[in-house]
Amino acid sequence: MVYVLDATAIRSGMTIAGEGWYTTQDIVDEVKLGRQARNLDMLLGVSIKVMSPDEASVNIIKETASKTHDIESLSRTDIGVLALAYELQATIISDDYAVQNIARILKIPIKTDLKGIREIIHWTFRCRGCGRYFEKEPVDCPICGSEIRKVKKK
Ligand SMILES: [Zn+2]
Repeated sequence: MVYVLDATAIRSGMTIAGEGWYTTQDIVDEVKLGRQARNLDMLLGVSIKVMSPDEASVNIIKETASKTHDIESLSRTDIGVLALAYELQATIISDDYAVQNIARILKIPIKTDLKGIREIIHWTFRCRGCGRYFEKEPVDCPICGSEIRKVKKK
């Protein structure tokens, strides 16, 4: 399977395994401005490929969105995600309504969340010393100062 991830999917904090994960440069730039930059670096280090869609695919998305009047709700970034998925015949992961609408019209498979995708591993962080769990990765445990380890979420 090939997937194109939008910003929400990347911000969800999941870590993915295996091949076939794509996103656009616009998404990377958008996420980089936010607090999830560290998570993004982690993801790009693992397996997400960054690709820009062709002008032709972008135009198909724009034309379709103009007809359905979704164009006002779609950002440049959304259009890019749709265009890349159209081009790669990939499944989009996005919870944006306008994105979902265009995807349905163009028969681009779309998933609104990451449930049921086998390749996804959810990570959490656990202190080696006191055993506390953390959602984000602190450098050291703020409670006991021990080293933090990445573990699979149950
Ligand atoms: Zn601790």
